[in-house]
Amino acid sequence: MRAVYVTRTFDRQTGLPGEVAVLEVDKPRVVADDDVLIEVAYAALCGSDAHFISDDLFDFPVPFPAGHEFSGVIEDLGSAAAAKGFARGDKVTGDFVLECGHCEACRSGRRQFCAEVFVNGSAQAEYILLKADQVYHIPEKVSLLEGALFEPFVIAAGAMDKARLQLGQSMLIVGAGSIGQMLVQLARSCGAALVAASARTASKRELALRLGADVAIDPQHEDIRLRTAELTGQGFDVVIEASGSSAAAAEALDLVAPGGTVVLMSYYPPGQSIEVDLFRQIVTREVTVTGLQLSQNNWHRAQKMFARIDVKPIISKVYPLSEAPQAYADLVSGGQLKIVLDCGGGAS
Ligand SMILES: [Zn+2]
Ligand SMILES: [Zn+2]
Repeated sequence: MRAVYVTRTFDRQTGLPGEVAVLEVDKPRVVADDDVLIEVAYAALCGSDAHFISDDLFDFPVPFPAGHEFSGVIEDLGSAAAAKGFARGDKVTGDFVLECGHCEACRSGRRQFCAEVFVNGSAQAEYILLKADQVYHIPEKVSLLEGALFEPFVIAAGAMDKARLQLGQSMLIVGAGSIGQMLVQLARSCGAALVAASARTASKRELALRLGADVAIDPQHEDIRLRTAELTGQGFDVVIEASGSSAAAAEALDLVAPGGTVVLMSYYPPGQSIEVDLFRQIVTREVTVTGLQLSQNNWHRAQKMFARIDVKPIISKVYPLSEAPQAYADLVSGGQLKIVLDCGGGAS
C-alpha cells in the first residue's frame, strides 16, 4: 500500500527543511483479536505535521509514518473488536493514542497523562491498523470527508472544557485556523455573549464571521489591546491561543479579564518562552493559565456534538494521496485552513 512518510526532518545546523514522500510499504493486517483494519478514505494534515518540516519540535528517527486525523471504513477486524460493536463496512475514525488503562493517571480519569501510552500516527496511508479501543464510529449524518476532521474537533472540545466558558461571557480565539473556526462555533453554542476571533488572513476572518463570530480582528492592522478594551472593558473572560505565536501567548495575558482563563493549545516551536509579570498579570488579576495538547477524555462526547457544527467550509484543499509532498508544501507556506488527502478508501 502507499503511505506518507517523513523521510527527512528539519536540520537545525543547516536550516534544511524536512521532506515527506509517498512510499510503498506492506499493508497491515489483523493479527490480534482487538485489531481493526481500516481502509482510509481521507486523512487531514494537522498544524503539528508542519513541525516535521519547518522545525525540530519532534525528533523521531526517519523514515516514520505521518498522519493522525482521518476517516475510513472497516475492512477487517478481530473477534474482540466485533464484540465491541464494530463490523466490516462501518464508517469510523480513530484516536492515534491508546492509553494503558491501568497506570495511576489512567485510573484517576486523566488519560492524557498516561505513562505507557501507545501511539500509531500513520493515517496518511491507504490503510491503518488500530486497536478497537482507539476506533470511534463517525455519526451517521457526517460524510467521510467531514469525518477526517473529527480528531481536531475532539481537541476543540477539550479546549472548551479547559475554557470553562459560562453563559453570557466573552471569548477571544487567537488564530482562526481549523480548530479556531470550530471554537467559534462551539463558543456560540455554549452561550457566549461575545465571540471574537483574530487572524492575519482575511479569508479566515471572513469565515469566522460567517460561522458565528461577532467580531474578527486583523492583528497586523488593528491594535488588539485597544479593540479588546473597546469591546469588553476589562478584557475577555476566555482567551484561547491557537495561533502558535509565543508573542500572541504573551499578549493573551493582557487581553484576558480579571478572573479569566487563558488556554494555550498550540505547538510552539522548541525553546519559545515568554516573560510574565507574575504579580501584575497573574496574582492580582487571578488569571488561570492552562495548556492543552490532547483530549482523550472527550471522544465520546465529541461524537454527540460533531454533526452540530459545520466543518465543510473549513476544508480548503483536497489532494490525492500521491500529491502529499505538495500538500505539505502548502501546509508549511501557511494561510490554508484544513488540507486533506484523498486516500481512496470507502469509495471516497
Ligand atoms: Zn492534529
Ligand atoms: Zn495509563
